[in-house]
Amino acid sequence: MSTLDSLALTRIPAEDEALRAEVRAFLQEAIADLPAHIRARSWGGYSSALSRRLGDKGWIGITLPRAYGGGGRSAFTRYVLVEEYLACGAPVGSHWIADRQSAPLILKYGTEAQKQFYIPRVCKGEAFFCIGMSEPNAGSDLASVKTRAVPNAQGFVLNGQKIWTTNAHHCQYMIALVRTSGTSEDRHQGLSQVIVDLSLPGVTVRPIEDLSGDSHFCEVFFDNVQLGPDALIGAEGQGWEQVTAELAFERSGPERLFSSIVLFDQWLGYVRTPQGRTDSAVRLAGKVLTQLAPLRAMSVSVQEKLTQGASPIVEAALVKELGTTLEQMIPAAIAEDLFAREAEDVPVELLMTLKYVTEASPSFSLRGGTRDILRGMIARGLGLR
Ligand SMILES: Cc1cc2nc3c(=O)[nH]c(=O)nc-3n(C[C@H](O)[C@H](O)[C@H](O)COP(=O)(O)OP(=O)(O)OC[C@H]3O[C@@H](n4cnc5c(N)ncnc54)[C@H](O)[C@@H]3O)c2cc1C
Repeated sequence: MSTLDSLALTRIPAEDEALRAEVRAFLQEAIADLPAHIRARSWGGYSSALSRRLGDKGWIGITLPRAYGGGGRSAFTRYVLVEEYLACGAPVGSHWIADRQSAPLILKYGTEAQKQFYIPRVCKGEAFFCIGMSEPNAGSDLASVKTRAVPNAQGFVLNGQKIWTTNAHHCQYMIALVRTSGTSEDRHQGLSQVIVDLSLPGVTVRPIEDLSGDSHFCEVFFDNVQLGPDALIGAEGQGWEQVTAELAFERSGPERLFSSIVLFDQWLGYVRTPQGRTDSAVRLAGKVLTQLAPLRAMSVSVQEKLTQGASPIVEAALVKELGTTLEQMIPAAIAEDLFAREAEDVPVELLMTLKYVTEASPSFSLRGGTRDILRGMIARGLGLR
């Protein structure tokens, strides 16, 4: 039984739930050979081959219109898919950002030509996107981005630097938040989003090694990169509004609750064995599940608001802040439980999975917006600031 089976507080419509068994069966076969400590990377893991297979199944862009190669299904269908990817630990990082936010952003703000060019390839698992928001000295303070796209006769000339760009070295495209007019003192004005083809001359991508030895995020440098006029996505100067709406997609999904779920499932498997079962471990399992269930219900309800075209920015911040707190509590509590036992009783694979998740967990409350920033947004939403 998967952990998710016990989280039935929120009702996802039966026609969407119906997909779950098929996805689970497919993944169990497709990633049968991946050990838990690799599966623990989940949406941080990368396999373009798996993305292609999922694209062939119609499981990328499942909520996007059929006219652009999408599945035309509801957000709840996507929720089921995403939960299964996370619960199985499927390495879905290659298409994750394109599916979660780039293609929906292009659908909402893009021109007809942009929709026709990018979305079908996203849905096939052939076009991968990364997010170019953060810059050195402008991480949380996005309004002060300095990367600049200056209009010229051929379109725009791009200069500047992005940092912490997940999977830029594997992606064909970045949607970058850049300044197209005014100065960085103008804050929210003069910002725009542009689509950057990362193969263009003048683009340099340099991976950065993280604490666990993985190199998934990158520095990206732009040196007089010539972009076409069709690089602009949405309206010039509307980048701030577009980016804050986009962040609601990034902050509310199940990936903000389930980053430690492969570890939790592995540990639960051990706790179900005679030598693994202790009273304190059973209490810990209950503690995790009683936090996970209402958080999942909140996350599902934010998804529903997103599909109604609303921008539940504060609610999404709330889900992410509470979700990452739980995601970080899980490896810490499991470490405490396992280190109190006889070392030879604990399966090595479980310890390797714990090691990876422990090393990755500080980033859970950084990526997608730091804890302090989210708490500030929640306070403002409550009228406290
Ligand atoms: C694994 C991972 C993947 C990432 N992927 C991407 C990506 O694909 N694309 C992308 O654009 N970015 C990405 N990021 C960047 C991430 O979103 C930034 O790290 C984040 O926005 C913070 O920016 P910073 O690191 O420059 O820290 P800073 O903004 O310098 O913050 C440092 C500390 O100061 C606090 N702080 C800053 N300003 C305030 C304030 N006004 N009030 C209170 N406290 C404040 C912060 O909360 C934080 O604790 C990723 C980060 C990680 C860890």
